[in-house]
Amino acid sequence: MTSSSSLGGHGDAPTHEIARSVILRADESDLARPLEAQPTMRILIVEDEPKTAAYVRKGLTEHAYVVDIADNGIEGLHLATSGHYDLILLDVMLPGADGWTVLEALRRQRQTPVLFLSARDEVADRVKGLELGADDYLVKPFAFSELLARIRTLLRRGAVQVEQRVRLADFDIDLTRRRVNRAGERIDLTAKEYALLDYFVHHVGEVVSRTLIAEHVWDMNFDSDTNVVDVAVRRLRAKLDDPFSTKLIHTIRGVGYVFDARLD
Ligand code: CA
Repeated sequence: MTSSSSLGGHGDAPTHEIARSVILRADESDLARPLEAQPTMRILIVEDEPKTAAYVRKGLTEHAYVVDIADNGIEGLHLATSGHYDLILLDVMLPGADGWTVLEALRRQRQTPVLFLSARDEVADRVKGLELGADDYLVKPFAFSELLARIRTLLRRGAVQVEQRVRLADFDIDLTRRRVNRAGERIDLTAKEYALLDYFVHHVGEVVSRTLIAEHVWDMNFDSDTNVVDVAVRRLRAKLDDPFSTKLIHTIRGVGYVFDARLD
């Protein structure tokens, strides 16, 4: 099971409820639980010291997290914005681009929780990290148990946030109240337009085919008439994208659509 399917669900509330309750219970006593009972959490480590990266990866893997490592800022940012991670551990002093730069660029696109790992224990560094949108800050050297505790806290917080609110550039959707905003302005959608948007929001950055959209949003098989999807997407775009410079819905010719914040 991937993190996107376990956390993001398929656009229907019951799946989210189950996923959330599993996360909360797993967090309390995960060592006693069989691994398959936990949703897979993906963590990206951006760290140029091979020893630290290997040490953290080993510990996290033993706790059933799926871990990727980037050893410089450029690759870290690329993975963080193109992959699907539940949490990012970010070193400050990095070749390519430093942790501040990576975080600043990441925050323009994604709200993935970030925990800074740094050898620098300056108050100014902590403040800067938190101001740029870091969620926590841990000074090296640290005990693995402390890192694990902080990761669990952030993931628990993040899991609830993912359920309720998604932000991309100037787009903001409150999934609890079913409210959609762009650039601070409320956008009114019909029930079907909202259902389509909800499906996109749960698959940010993924290519979704017309067939998949038809199945999930209309609950029907539209093999012979995917034009229905195109018409609905056009209507959603007219409200959501046309008045704004940053486009969210992108056509992948011959395949389907990708929902993500990009300048076209
Ligand atoms: Ca470093």
